[in-house]
Amino acid sequence: MTEDKKNRYQARQQRVKEKVDSRIEAAQEEKGILLVITGNGKGKTTSGFGTVARAVGHGLKCGVAQFIKGNWDNGERNLLEQHGVQFHVMATGFTWETQNKETDTIAAQGVWQHCLQMLQDESLNLVLLDELTYMITYGYIELDEVLEALSRRPAMQTVIITGRAAHRELIAAADTVSEVKNVKHAFEAGIKAQRGVDW
Ligand code: ATP
Ligand code: MG
Repeated sequence: MTEDKKNRYQARQQRVKEKVDSRIEAAQEEKGILLVITGNGKGKTTSGFGTVARAVGHGLKCGVAQFIKGNWDNGERNLLEQHGVQFHVMATGFTWETQNKETDTIAAQGVWQHCLQMLQDESLNLVLLDELTYMITYGYIELDEVLEALSRRPAMQTVIITGRAAHRELIAAADTVSEVKNVKHAFEAGIKAQRGVDW
């Protein structure tokens, strides 16, 4: 690199650094955030649980609600319950095969009552509501009720919502939204879902 090139490179890097530093300086507000992880690619639930593990590692208190199908073994739960994370899982009364609106609504509402408690619990630093988006899409839980509970939660509480096709009002209410895009997935090539990778 010529001396001239080197100087120009350093000047450019310095300008980038100043910009970044001033934005770090400007971000002074401290509050819990609403984080939505949506999209069709793999990685939404694992991202949510990655953040729970991160928080637990800092000694923070976390709660998880999972609006999942069936009664599956759950690697994250096996680990995180041992570290004091409370779990509320919609295990029974709900499968994709028997979409019975009445029993599905009862099952979803059962877990939602626990969510309402967690969203009022000042001692909880982080709450993960895994696959909540579907409950709203199917009309098992009212969108307005979700938005209200989120807006009334303790100021320092962070909430993560995962699931495909997040409602636009949920996205509007969120502070951070990431969309995981599907580029390709092993399942499409006939590879079975695997313990420790997919659940
Ligand atoms: P993960 O739990 O692995 O982070 P996810 O939460 O992003 O996945 P979901 O839509 O909740 O994805 O689906 C859960 C299951 O479906 C997982 O076993 C996951 O591997 C699988 N899956 C996720 N995305 C796809 C996809 N695009 N095609 C096929 N299967 C998928
Ligand atoms: Mg998921």
